[in-house]
Amino acid sequence: MDNIDRITELELGLFELRLKAVTCKPLRQSALYCTECGNDIPDRRRKTLPGVQLCVGCKEVTEVRDRNFGGRA
Ligand SMILES: [Zn+2]
Repeated sequence: MDNIDRITELELGLFELRLKAVTCKPLRQSALYCTECGNDIPDRRRKTLPGVQLCVGCKEVTEVRDRNFGGRA
């Protein structure tokens, strides 16, 4: 029975490691141009938001859309 406890602990440890790997490094590189409208994304925005794909304007639009439609639209 002790074996089962040890395996679960090990699995939890692995899960945490995987979670850390995902949350610590951006999944993709910051885009040079907005993927929605093609506008330049300023250097400062790309550095403060690693993996950013949208310009400020498009980001606001998607946020409003998500809020209004709960992502169902
Ligand atoms: Zn845009």
